[in-house]
Amino acid sequence: MILRQGQCFLSCLLLLLTCVSSNRSIDLPFQIKFSPKILVPGAIFQVWVHSQDSISRVEASLAERDIVFYTTSTRKQWEGVAGIDLETLPGLYSLTGTVWMTDGRSGAIRQSLRILPKKFPTQRIQVKQKYVTLGAQDSQRAAREARQLQAIWETVTSKRLWVETFHPPLSSRLTSGFGRRRIVNGKRRSPHSGVDLKASFGTPIKAANSGKVVLAQDLFFAGKTIILDHGLGLYTLYAHCSKMWIKVGDLVGQGQVIGEVGATGRVTGPHLHWACRVSSARVNPLNLTTLLMPTTSIFSQ
Ligand SMILES: [Zn+2]
Repeated sequence: MILRQGQCFLSCLLLLLTCVSSNRSIDLPFQIKFSPKILVPGAIFQVWVHSQDSISRVEASLAERDIVFYTTSTRKQWEGVAGIDLETLPGLYSLTGTVWMTDGRSGAIRQSLRILPKKFPTQRIQVKQKYVTLGAQDSQRAAREARQLQAIWETVTSKRLWVETFHPPLSSRLTSGFGRRRIVNGKRRSPHSGVDLKASFGTPIKAANSGKVVLAQDLFFAGKTIILDHGLGLYTLYAHCSKMWIKVGDLVGQGQVIGEVGATGRVTGPHLHWACRVSSARVNPLNLTTLLMPTTSIFSQ
């Protein structure tokens, strides 16, 4: 397997933020860490908040996207995850939010983070003209399906459904990288929002992690497509399948075969298009394989 690992640097930056209580005039120290240290479009951003005291709630956002937090049973450490969309402009952004303590105190999160530019290559492909110049019926169908997908991305399941590490859905040669700017039949189109894994017809497709099936449908562009909700606004998508072995509402385990590789939809040959959304942002699914797991030792490293 020649899959490149996502460029997720495990080194975390430790910050001690001094926060002023909203209803008591004392300083409230808590710690915050995040990963990766270097942010680029397509990255998956993780943040941890830790205190000696119990925390009741954490809210934060980065680059106008909400970060969804969850906690362990002690409520002293909270973890959040967010995506940096592949078309995010480079520049200085603010990580802002609020930490509410169980005893009623609260404190603000204020941190500047720089998103660096990332250059994506351009790719030229040729497909059947009906996928480029859409008739009225196809155009309406594509628009309806785009709205359906957007509604899924904007739905956040508050519970984390994934376990341990994510794995690629099949072993393959990477044929088309994430983020490539595409020129289809000579016309500029939206950038490639996933990775294309070359495989022969019928190759089993495995769930990258445990989750719930929220879509199993034949789409105009993506063909037979499966979407898994892993919780906290994190979704994986598997497109151009020849077969789908699951149905909407099924709970699947990590590594469970959910379908088979095919060439349905707008394709030039059989492959699996694997994509990931976090807080609606289009991120590189290969970054999932280096996502840090919840651990109680993060702040003792
Ligand atoms: Zn693709």
